[in-house]
Amino acid sequence: MARRTKIIATIGPASDDEATLRGLIRAGMDVARLGLAHNTIDEAAARMADIRRIAALEGRYVGILVDLPGPKVRAASFGEEPVVLVEDSRVELRVGDHRSDATSIEVDYEGLLSDMEPGDRLSLGDGRVILEVREVAEESLLARVAHGGVLTGSPGLHIPSDRLSMRAPTDDDLRAVERFVELDVDMIAVSFVRSAEDLARLPVMPHPEGPIVVAKIETRAAIDDLPAIIEASGAVMVARGDLGSECSIEELPILQKEIIRQCIALGRPAITATQMLETMVNNPEPTRAEVSDVANAVWDGSSAVMLSGETAIGVNPVNVVSTMSRIAERADDAFDHRGWMSELSELRMTDTGDPDTAITDAMTQATARAVDELGISTILCISGSGFTVRSMARFRPSARIIGLSSNERTVRQLTLSWGTEALHLPEQGDLQRRVAAALEVARDRGAVQAGELVGLLAGTDVRSRSTNVLRVERVPEA
Ligand code: PGA
Ligand code: MN
Repeated sequence: MARRTKIIATIGPASDDEATLRGLIRAGMDVARLGLAHNTIDEAAARMADIRRIAALEGRYVGILVDLPGPKVRAASFGEEPVVLVEDSRVELRVGDHRSDATSIEVDYEGLLSDMEPGDRLSLGDGRVILEVREVAEESLLARVAHGGVLTGSPGLHIPSDRLSMRAPTDDDLRAVERFVELDVDMIAVSFVRSAEDLARLPVMPHPEGPIVVAKIETRAAIDDLPAIIEASGAVMVARGDLGSECSIEELPILQKEIIRQCIALGRPAITATQMLETMVNNPEPTRAEVSDVANAVWDGSSAVMLSGETAIGVNPVNVVSTMSRIAERADDAFDHRGWMSELSELRMTDTGDPDTAITDAMTQATARAVDELGISTILCISGSGFTVRSMARFRPSARIIGLSSNERTVRQLTLSWGTEALHLPEQGDLQRRVAAALEVARDRGAVQAGELVGLLAGTDVRSRSTNVLRVERVPEA
C-alpha cells in the first residue's frame, strides 16, 4: 500500500535551491512550509513561486503553508560554532539583535524587561537550555542557567505566553497574510493562538473563499479554549516545540492525543510537529525513539507529520523526507482501519446545528461501511471545498480516497488530507456529468482500472457543501 499520512517539510537555507526542492518533492514532500521568521515576505513569495513551478514540472500538487511567526522571540546569533551554556552559570539578557554568547544574550523583543518577573523560566531552542530569571535590572534581565546545553545560530526564546504582552497575530503577521492571500496561498498557519478571536482577526474570507487557516496549538490558553479554536480553524498543528515549554513535558503526549482526537471529531486535519526526526539535522539515521514517535503520531490519527529544522537547516533534507516517508508508510500499513472506524462512530460530530455538515457526516460514515463490506478499494469524492474529502478521511478507510475538485486551490489543499490523492476535475455540470467525468479522469490518470467497482460521493447541487449522493459504480472502458 502507498503512504497515506502526509509529510510537511519546512523550507530553509538547506533546502531552498532548485535541485533540493525537486529532490524533496520526489522523496514525498506533500506540503512545503515557508516560515517568515528568517525570511522577508518577498523572499517567501519568491520561494512559493519556485515550488509551484517545480511541482508543476514534476507533475505533482504540492501545497504551500505559510507560517506566521507571531510573537516569536529570538535570541541574536550565537554563531555557527556550538556555544555551551553551563548549568548554574549566570547570563544577562538584553534587548538587541547583534550577538549572543555564553554569558550575554541579546533578544529581539522590546517588552523583554517589562514582561518578566523573577522566578520566570525561559526556554531556548525548544528546551535545549532553560534559564531562570533572578532579577529584572534597569537594562537587562539577570538569569541563572537552570539546565545547561549547547546552542548555535539564532534559537527561539520561549517566554511563557501568559507573560507575553505581545498578541498573535501581530501587525507583521497581518501584513503577510494580505500579501499571501493575494498570491492565492493554500494554507496559513497562525502561531501562539490563544483564543478563537485571535483567528477572527485575520484579514481572510472564511474557507473556501479564503485559505485554510491552521491554528498552532502552543499556548496554555489555547488548550483551555481548544474546541472553539478547532471549530474556527481549517486545520490544527500540535506545535510541540513551544507547547512543550508551556506545559509540563510529561503532559505533551497526552495533549497530542487529545488535540488530535478533537480534530478528528470535527473533521479538521491535525499536523503533528517539531523534533520528529530532530537528530537527522546532523545524522544520516534517526534515533529509535524518533522512529517510534513518527509511527505513533500516525496511529494517533495525525493527517500529516512535519519536519522543521531537519529539512530547513539539516545536512541532508532529501534523506530526511525519504526516511520519514518510509516510517509513515510502514505505520500506515499496520494501521487498524476497522478498529478506528468503529471508534469513530462514537466520536464523530453529531448534533451539529448545520444540516450540510450533518448530512455529509452521515454519508461519509455510510460510505466507510459500504466500501468495507463490498471490498471496494477506491472511493472517489467529488468536492468543491474539500470538506467531503476531509470528512471521509476521518474514517481512515483502507480504501484509497481520491479527492476531485474543480477548484485548483482545493486540489492543492487536499495535499494536507490523510490518505487523499487529489485530482483536478474541470467538469462542473449536473451530477450525472460530474460522475462520468470523475470516473474518466481517475481512469485516465491510472488511479482506477476499467471494470473496477468504486464508491463515489457527490452532491446533487454543485454550490452546496452538502454531500447527499453515494453511488457504487463500475469504471467504464476507455
Ligand atoms: P515553530 O512552531 O516551529 O514556528 O516554533 C512549531 C512548534 O512550536 O512546535
Ligand atoms: Mn512554535
